[in-house]
Amino acid sequence: MKITGTRIAVNARDAKAVDLWLSRGRVFFSAISDSKQRVLDLSGFLILPGLINAHDHLELNLFPRLGRAIYPNATAWAEDIHYAYKSSIEEQRAVPKRARFRWGATKNLLSGVTTVAQHNALPSAANRENLPIRVLTRYGWAHSLHFCRDWHERFQATPEKFPFFIHAAEGTDEAARKEIDILNRGGALTPSTVLVHGVGIGRKQLKWVEDGGCSLVWCPSSNHFTLGCSLDREILNARVPIALGTDSALTAKGDLLDELHVAHNAVPAERLYDMVTCMAARILKLPPGYGEIRYGGPADLLVMRDDGLTPAETLLRASPQLVIVRGRIELVSADFPLSDPGELFEDAFPLQVENRGTYFLRNPIKPLIDETRHISGREPRLAGKQLHHDA
Ligand SMILES: [Zn+2]
Repeated sequence: MKITGTRIAVNARDAKAVDLWLSRGRVFFSAISDSKQRVLDLSGFLILPGLINAHDHLELNLFPRLGRAIYPNATAWAEDIHYAYKSSIEEQRAVPKRARFRWGATKNLLSGVTTVAQHNALPSAANRENLPIRVLTRYGWAHSLHFCRDWHERFQATPEKFPFFIHAAEGTDEAARKEIDILNRGGALTPSTVLVHGVGIGRKQLKWVEDGGCSLVWCPSSNHFTLGCSLDREILNARVPIALGTDSALTAKGDLLDELHVAHNAVPAERLYDMVTCMAARILKLPPGYGEIRYGGPADLLVMRDDGLTPAETLLRASPQLVIVRGRIELVSADFPLSDPGELFEDAFPLQVENRGTYFLRNPIKPLIDETRHISGREPRLAGKQLHHDA
């Protein structure tokens, strides 16, 4: 496929006019020998690298937000919701995991995410093949110190070249702070370690995290919902690489675009752009080319309307018009100038997403909606958003 007439993001601040050729799932800046080449004129659009969501629980995105208070830490939250919302949790769990994984991937695709870090067991290889986005597969993880007593074995079993994810210091009390002490004593604060949340990191602990070369994943809307606050300025400005994550619908406001808006209350647009592109790629230890548009890199692209703003400003103001993953168009907005969506997809079923717009997806969504509605007895809501569709 050849893409013409567009600007592409070079970094958070700059974009340049250039034609792209996509072949075998990769990006090129000069013609490549493909016999039958489709030409896509994207005049008036800006192409960004596909976004990277550094933290999600894909199978938990049909849930409503659950919680009835501000909690001192995530353990208190988890214990309370399993008691207070037992029937709601059971109702959602009746939907097969395979279907819930697809919903989680669809949530990400609708926000321009092309790679996600799953926290919990991965979907099976067969199920991953059916997902419209990439799911990180080379990683180690433990849920948290409290819910994963074998966390240290899991940490030690993770190769150094993989990231090791753990929910840590997800709280504002002494118990949350002490988790960093335990990780430090266990020799687990290393350049591979990715601490998810970290709200309760104290000043002494922050020095260990910096010196250990650890990274953080920031999920501001989840933190505000469960803990009443998120990372303070001292942590945000520390010598710690930070990526943005959505967490799941159990606690988050919505998808990665919603998370960017919440995070923008504390961090400028340019840094946020890095947190969902190049910085996230570095923290997730992705191969070269992820989180940027470069020659020979993966053809994972997010197309948005070009109003002459910088890539970072565009990310905060626009919504996805087209998303390409592995060189293949996975999603197109109904506003996108096409004479017929059937040009792109065989099954052009319009999906209206609350406060976003109407989209066509390559992966047929209607059977998934029907299956979910049949099992749960109600219309699915995806990460809090109502979905409308004809018939
Ligand atoms: Zn989480």
